[in-house]
Amino acid sequence: MIVASESAVRQYPELRLTRRSARPEGTVVTVRGVEIGGPGIVIVAGPCAVESEPQLLATARAVKASGAHILRGGAFKPRTSPYSFQGLKEEGLRLLAQARAETGLPIVTEVLDARHLELVATYADILQVGSRNMQNFMLLQEVGRSRVPVLLKRGMSATLEEYLNAAEYVMSNGNPNVILCERGIRTFEPSMQNTLDLNAVPMLQRLSHLPVIVDPSHGTGHAWMVPRLACAAVAAGADGVMVEVHVDPANALSDGQHALTPDEFAAMAGQIAAVGRAIGRSMVASARAGDSGAEVA
Ligand code: PEP
Ligand code: MN
Repeated sequence: MIVASESAVRQYPELRLTRRSARPEGTVVTVRGVEIGGPGIVIVAGPCAVESEPQLLATARAVKASGAHILRGGAFKPRTSPYSFQGLKEEGLRLLAQARAETGLPIVTEVLDARHLELVATYADILQVGSRNMQNFMLLQEVGRSRVPVLLKRGMSATLEEYLNAAEYVMSNGNPNVILCERGIRTFEPSMQNTLDLNAVPMLQRLSHLPVIVDPSHGTGHAWMVPRLACAAVAAGADGVMVEVHVDPANALSDGQHALTPDEFAAMAGQIAAVGRAIGRSMVASARAGDSGAEVA
């Protein structure tokens, strides 16, 4: 007879700071008044790459109007080909700051290399460490010494143990404000860019106290799949989603294939709110004017 008890979950004693028992109540990262990891669901939205002032501002206004809480946009882009658009670099950061000033949305942008950290940290409310850099231990140590919160994306072939060890690098260097982001892993299936590992959501929340969000854009590689997987992520217990939105996906300089239009984003935001209600979660409160910096609740 099978005894109705919870199956054992492997413990990782070396995860000193990230493990759930280090902070059983959970970590809430607060960025300009937006709480990530609390009871509310957070939506991060924006283009893959900042391309121009009109592109970014139109996208920022649209996602803000439809309920996004945080604006994303890459200024330094990790591209597979060296001949692909690499980002607007500092000009992209300036445009993000302009979009923040206009909309009030906090901004998250990728820091690709430790040499850019000082520059990126002067603009960003959240530093993104991309999938390809999840085990760039020098970069993890540097962002760990920063006071800016870190959105750490899962490496495309990383186990959860490796992933939490990466977060451990950031935390052990002094930065407690780490947000985890499942963004799809490499599997044998070629019809999608990645396989979104929604199993990781409850398991990461079980193993760790850190907030967990999901990126169904890179996790699928197909715009038409994004709203369904965003809803599934919320149903699985994610603290939020991060999605790519472009005013003209067909002409995007990167990742147009999985970018939502503003209208598609608006429809998805309504669906996310409905799924949230079904599981007893509401949308997080938006940024308040005058809020700045980060704090851990
Ligand atoms: C991104 O979010 O812009 C990105 C490059 O994602 P990833 O690092 O997950 O590929
Ligand atoms: Mn992208």
